[in-house]
Amino acid sequence: MLFNPLLPLSAQPVFIQPENGRILATNTKPNSPKSQPKQSPKWQQLINQSKPIPLSVAVGAEGLPLTLLKKALVTWEVGTQHRVQFQLLEDAAPKAMQSADILLLWAEETALPQQEAHPSAHNTGRAWLHVKAINQSPVIVGSTIELVHYPTIDAYLSPLQQTNRLYTTLLHELGHALGLNHAKNTTSVMHPFGWKNTELTAEDSGLIFQLYGTT
Ligand SMILES: [Zn+2]
Repeated sequence: MLFNPLLPLSAQPVFIQPENGRILATNTKPNSPKSQPKQSPKWQQLINQSKPIPLSVAVGAEGLPLTLLKKALVTWEVGTQHRVQFQLLEDAAPKAMQSADILLLWAEETALPQQEAHPSAHNTGRAWLHVKAINQSPVIVGSTIELVHYPTIDAYLSPLQQTNRLYTTLLHELGHALGLNHAKNTTSVMHPFGWKNTELTAEDSGLIFQLYGTT
């Protein structure tokens, strides 16, 4: 989630800027403002040829319910009309995990990095998304999603509600990992307050179509 209820709206972290529905290429390395973002000509070619885009997903978050993760991945695969095809790496070696397109980790709430320290990071209370690079396609080259196990802001929820909130957080952050910015419709998964939404709306699908050229 990009929205942090602990911050006033004016101080909400800004992540990726939309421009005509596209995501701008963003340099994400701190202290190297002049370096160029990674390019991914292979992916651009796949997009141009309307071919499936394979994205590997590694789970470094021990105990993360894979049923939740798989459900969220399938939701986005269907949402992209299977242009995006996730490959879930189970029991991956550490090196393979680091090179995955999307890496899921647990994070200690108190150890979440501050937004100000990194231009592409969010500290949102429930999750922290670190995008390694976004190419011009503008499909994201790689990202790490750090999930807070039991966020303080959800401490009042029942265990079942907390699991549901973890699912919708996963769904929302995976949308960001695919390159989506926030939606305007409050029922959309990608709405900044959309953490109760479990189904992609026409607006969510429209955003993904803009990026991946699905028809
Ligand atoms: Zn968000």
